[in-house]
Amino acid sequence: MKHNKFIGAHVSASGGVENVPLNAMAIGANAFALFTKNQRQWVASPLTEKSITKFKENCAKGGFDSAYILPHDSYLINLGSPNEEGLQKSQAAFIDEMKRCEQLGLQMLNFHPGSHLNKISIEECLDKIAENINLALSMTSGVTAVIENTAGQGSNVGNRLEEIRYIIDRVDDKERVGYCIDTCHFYSAGYDIVNDYEGAFSQLDSVIGLNYLKAIHLNDTKKPLGSRVDRHESIGLGLLGLDFFRRFMKDSRFNNIPIILETPDETRWADEIALLRSFE
Ligand code: ZN
Ligand code: MN
Ligand code: MN
Repeated sequence: MKHNKFIGAHVSASGGVENVPLNAMAIGANAFALFTKNQRQWVASPLTEKSITKFKENCAKGGFDSAYILPHDSYLINLGSPNEEGLQKSQAAFIDEMKRCEQLGLQMLNFHPGSHLNKISIEECLDKIAENINLALSMTSGVTAVIENTAGQGSNVGNRLEEIRYIIDRVDDKERVGYCIDTCHFYSAGYDIVNDYEGAFSQLDSVIGLNYLKAIHLNDTKKPLGSRVDRHESIGLGLLGLDFFRRFMKDSRFNNIPIILETPDETRWADEIALLRSFE
């Protein structure tokens, strides 16, 4: 069956990246997200030729097109870090992640913009992030940097749409930069997609532009509007509610991009995907 929506989850890469497409197949996905290395370590051993070949074979087996595969970078990376050591480690790790995506034949790398750690201004932090995206893009080819909006928890930047726009404006290669909207983060950051669905998404279009929208993280949320707390919930069990997801699934603006579940109960993923499909 042909779908306009490409839905999957951030599935496990345990045992090697080659297992990821198999895990996505098992939940009825036609898209997926993955870590290409252990997300809690700075340095990873390189991908082996064998692992790369098997990954590509398994993607073909499951009918996964690289346009709907959204790798996520390590949680340790902070491209806006005010500390010299942290920044250097982050730069190196980010470039390595981009290269791993290249090796796997992938087109995008999704990442959280960064944190000012209360040591520099938001603007200085955003400037550093843009510089580091430029650096990484200049050292790699074919992979687009996909900035994720945040809930604005702690000192994380990127909760306000204007901040994402600010970064994109400073990236030289506009063909290789874009953003991902996480619906949990969006609501927690204060954008009311429940009571003002149209208003929130038209604001998105006017501030950043839907042309730069590369992916969606589709999550329900445990925390209220504007709370700036990042707590994902299973589809329909949180404050967004099923009406939001019904509307989202009928919205053609979200066709033909990866839509990734990062919902907390992975035993529900297959059912969540089937439920979302029933709304299409
Ligand atoms: Zn993320
Ligand atoms: Mn997310
Ligand atoms: Mn989150």
